[in-house]
Amino acid sequence: KLDFAGRIAKRLGAPVREEIVHAVDGVDLSIAKGEVVGLVGESGCGKSTLGRMVAGILPPSDGTVLRQGRDITVLNTQDAREAKLRTQMIFQDPYASLNPRMRVADIVGEAPHVHGIVSGRDWNDYVDEQLRRAGLDPALKRRYPHQFSGGQRQRIGIARALAVKPDFLVCDEAVAALDVSIQAQILNLFMKLRRELDLTYLFISHDLGVVEHLSDRVVIMYLGRVVESAPAAEVFARANHPYTVSLLSAVPRIDSRKRAFSVVQGEIPSPLNPPPGCHFHPRCPHAMPRCKVERPALREIAPGHISACHLNDAS
Ligand code: SF4
Repeated sequence: KLDFAGRIAKRLGAPVREEIVHAVDGVDLSIAKGEVVGLVGESGCGKSTLGRMVAGILPPSDGTVLRQGRDITVLNTQDAREAKLRTQMIFQDPYASLNPRMRVADIVGEAPHVHGIVSGRDWNDYVDEQLRRAGLDPALKRRYPHQFSGGQRQRIGIARALAVKPDFLVCDEAVAALDVSIQAQILNLFMKLRRELDLTYLFISHDLGVVEHLSDRVVIMYLGRVVESAPAAEVFARANHPYTVSLLSAVPRIDSRKRAFSVVQGEIPSPLNPPPGCHFHPRCPHAMPRCKVERPALREIAPGHISACHLNDAS
């Protein structure tokens, strides 16, 4: 079970007040080797915080992150470094994490050189191989990041991640900033890499449509809590939680006229002051009096399909 509570300074006039924000609240998530898990929710639901904890970048305020049975939050320096190398994050805005003064070859080749993954003699060929694998022409490796398009920059970020031989990629809104046609190319690249390198993914997105064809399993988060988790096909055929149903209704479909239109109403409440009971009750079209006071537990409603909604108690 993972928790993350951080202090934030709240500027509502003077004096500045510090408040606790519970960004991740008792999340239990396991990912099997080779699996692709899509983690979905609106911005502010805690999915990026959870992704950073899973990647070992952010220590949880409570709970453990186990990698093949070992808690990565308490590993010694050498083991922790290896665990971190084997888990790489791909971010929404690769440009922000690419040093504008470094040539692409150095961006991709720096970490494997520092960590002794490749020797000086083989370095050039190794960099070329990573660029080719990410769909970039190695002939462009002397260029700087600003000389590439958004999609190409994301490929540079992917080549840099692959260069340290990870087996687990945490992709945080990795295609959100790209045009739809480029999004499809990058998603296809992720799937090709999965097959070629036997990679495991945690794929974080605010858009269920993006994770639909990519994920084996989809996990839905709302205000720091998991509200539903199921095999991907099950989520798209038989979504159970009213929040998931609302998110699905926002996914454009060729047959959209057949689908009732019920996009999520209202704004996501502040995680500083989440509603009591079921966090979703102020926006839920099925809310009952007990939803305002009683937190629904996650219940298995079909094999491998869990959901946290009081409506399931009657079934
Ligand atoms: Fe809606 Fe109540 Fe279910 Fe929450 S527990 S999703 S408020 S019906």
